Amino acid sequence: MGLGNVEIMSTTAAEIICQSKLSLALTGAGISVESGIPDFRSRGGLWERFDPMEYGTISAFQANPEKVWTMFQEMEKIIRRARPNPAHKALGRLQHMGLLHTIITQNIDNLHQEEGATSVIEYHGNSKTLSCISCDRQYRLEKLGEEIPPRCTCGQILKPDVVLFGEAIPPRALRESHELASSCEALLVIGTSAQVAPANTIPLIAKKAGASIIEINVEPTLLTSSVTDIFFQGRAGELVTKLADEVEGIMNQS
Ligand code: NAD
Repeated sequence: MGLGNVEIMSTTAAEIICQSKLSLALTGAGISVESGIPDFRSRGGLWERFDPMEYGTISAFQANPEKVWTMFQEMEKIIRRARPNPAHKALGRLQHMGLLHTIITQNIDNLHQEEGATSVIEYHGNSKTLSCISCDRQYRLEKLGEEIPPRCTCGQILKPDVVLFGEAIPPRALRESHELASSCEALLVIGTSAQVAPANTIPLIAKKAGASIIEINVEPTLLTSSVTDIFFQGRAGELVTKLADEVEGIMNQS
């Protein structure tokens, strides 16, 4: 199903979620844009000053950790100010209704968890903890002092526990999300450009397993004309809320 009557599509998507034995959501940077965290494409955003390919790779960090820490510092300031938006809230609502098994997020901003999501896989890690690049000792961000870059008691530099380009996905997150994708019946894909691998294989795995793919994005993506069954074009805050309202309406009738 392509672009068409939004109301009918919304009801169809809500029915799919209500009937699905296992529904998942895959979220990307776009779901947090309305919380004030820019995605890679926002104009005038963080990523115009810090090219992800220059600052966001593990080799850049290894070569010049002080330089990459200037980006981490900026990101941390933005994330600290951000609060969950209606899209995070709506997904949390679906989880509390028992209709959304797991949220697989590529985001490192903790906003699903702050909204009380019951099951979240952090595919690209989380910015709230840091680990020593030498001895692996882990620290909580809020316990650290002002020193930049922060250092471990062993003297080595700490790195946030986020997956940089060139780093492996945390093995448990990778295994669990791919297992869930291969057995889900519905997958909501929200605010991701689907350009970052291997996260962008999750919709393909789900589709191959026979799942319905429901995509929400302000613009079409690589997935829209290939694997997506229902595409809602618009902002996540409004559209995910509308979908959760429809689902709630159906559940209240039954
Ligand atoms: P991306 O920046 O490549 O794509 C974002 C997508 O969201 C785009 O397709 C855009 O059209 C869409 N979008 C923007 N605003 C939207 C809105 N209001 N509603 C719905 N859709 C909207 O992001 P990605 O695919 O997640 O990949 C980027 C990588 O960078 C990921 O690994 C992600 O973890 C990381 N990242 C994370 C954050 C964060 O934690 N909030 C922010 C920036 C980047």
